[in-house]
Amino acid sequence: MPALDELARARLDRLREEHLLRSLVRTDRDAPGRVERAGAELESFSCNDYLGLATDPRVIAAAREALERHGAGAGASRLVTGNHALYEPLERALAEFKGRERALVFGSGFLANAGAIPTLAGKGDLVLLDRLCHASMYNAARLSRAALERFEHNNLDDARRILERERAGHARCWILTESVFSMDGDLGPVDALGKLAQEFDAWLLVDDAHGLGFAPTGAADVVVGTLSKALGGVGGYVAASAAVIELLVQKAHTFIYTTGLPPASIAASSAALAILRSDPGLAHRPLENARRFTARLGRAPAASPIVPVVLGEAARALEAQAMLERAGYLAIAIRPPTVPPGGSRLRFAFSARHQAESIDAVADLLIQHGYA
Ligand SMILES: *Cc1c(COP(=O)(O)O)cnc(C)c1O
Repeated sequence: MPALDELARARLDRLREEHLLRSLVRTDRDAPGRVERAGAELESFSCNDYLGLATDPRVIAAAREALERHGAGAGASRLVTGNHALYEPLERALAEFKGRERALVFGSGFLANAGAIPTLAGKGDLVLLDRLCHASMYNAARLSRAALERFEHNNLDDARRILERERAGHARCWILTESVFSMDGDLGPVDALGKLAQEFDAWLLVDDAHGLGFAPTGAADVVVGTLSKALGGVGGYVAASAAVIELLVQKAHTFIYTTGLPPASIAASSAALAILRSDPGLAHRPLENARRFTARLGRAPAASPIVPVVLGEAARALEAQAMLERAGYLAIAIRPPTVPPGGSRLRFAFSARHQAESIDAVADLLIQHGYA
């Protein structure tokens, strides 16, 4: 057997050869919309803080007050002594905002999927998920021990074919999709999948991580989301009926066996959600910026704040990233396995804070250099 380090090095060498090695680059995000990275100050198109709420003074003030009053950490899991009073108003607001009876906050969106999906599906059941669903859903579905089928992205005919073939052989059935696909920016056909689920006696779970505040999720039986994107903080949630949420409290391992969030993070999310709810136009502003970009590129209007510029090979996506960096803009190259082989891309995430001039400048640079 080779030594462990040898094995690790061999695998790393292989990733390097394929241009798939990732690296941790120190990035400071002190000014809204700007990052300092490897000595350069860049305007970022790679942050999921769509509304600029991570640095909003009202959010910071709420977090600071909670930090000073309640300390740095939760001290225990929520079912022990970590269920801070700050959870109640946040969960009530999330439930109201998503139009559900109850919501439950988890440590992250990843943990919300990893807890909810294996609680709701198990051995003998069938889970159908869109081929482009986030890794947290895919991993959770595998963890559930249900039979797993992936349908072609947003392809209702394919989903139907699989259901016709497989549904009868399984006890319960879940269909999983996203309201906004995280690497492609297109919307999941939530309403149509809801109808399909009804037709086949299945339930629909929608991950709304990138759609909070503008994408429809009404047809879902269960909504999963995150506090770390539009809300600018950290944490995840599930919104559903009171009975489903109570079941998650009793059974979801990633809820039970982990420490609660720091009070400051809960307070920050509450303040951010209050801002979003008080200004319904706010959640649409990133979309307007994304549409300015797609119009400039001569493409169909963006469906969400996420716009991919697909470039094919990983090396080409890295070159395009470097070109923009030299001009003062940051758009991180996304490579396999985050996207399918040959689908490497620059992924632009537009925020409410981007200015028209920089959006136009980035689009023009991509055109000039033959990337768009
Ligand atoms: C980002 C993301 C998650 C994970 O959320 P975190 O709070 O960052 O863990 C889950 N699902 C989708 C679709 C995402 O894009």
